[in-house]
Amino acid sequence: MRRVDRARFVPGELAARAYDDAALPIGHEQTISQPTMVALLVDALELDGDERVLDIGTGSGYQAAILAELASEVYTVERIVALAEQARARLPRSVHVKVGDGTQGWPEHAPYDGIAVAAAATEPPPALLEQLAPGGRLVIPIGPPRQQILHVFRDGTVTKTVPCRFVPLVSDH
Ligand code: SAH
Repeated sequence: MRRVDRARFVPGELAARAYDDAALPIGHEQTISQPTMVALLVDALELDGDERVLDIGTGSGYQAAILAELASEVYTVERIVALAEQARARLPRSVHVKVGDGTQGWPEHAPYDGIAVAAAATEPPPALLEQLAPGGRLVIPIGPPRQQILHVFRDGTVTKTVPCRFVPLVSDH
């Protein structure tokens, strides 16, 4: 996290708050996640460095940039075109950014050793569970608006970790 400068991922007028441990607005009613939440989410993926990971909800691109430091291949999906384009320009070329409905995953590059979802769902999207490799981890906030619990799905088991609060995962399906 020290290697990724969060100031590059927040709007210019919020630069003074780039290092606050808080979510910040990035436009389009979306937020860049709180650094502590990014750390908890990414930590739950238990990456060694040689994994292929999928990041759902690119937003600013900050979490994808952190993942790029910890995995060998990063794919990220964002539904808002403007955010996806902005993130693509900020991220290293090794991070692949797609515009689309992340609840459908990115089947062309599956299976993934880890899938990180930075938006809240009421249940794990089936397509994401299907795109996990054996032993792969899906980390996703599950619950109602304003009060989710971070869940880790792995080989058919689920572990609940910390309370959290993410913007909604909006499904087109
Ligand atoms: N990881 C981001 C956090 C962005 S907030 C960061 O580090 O900045 C969550 C993002 O998920 C928003 O940009 C929102 O547009 C996006 N999102 C919501 N539903 C989605 C969906 N079904 N598919 C892809 N992106 C989605």
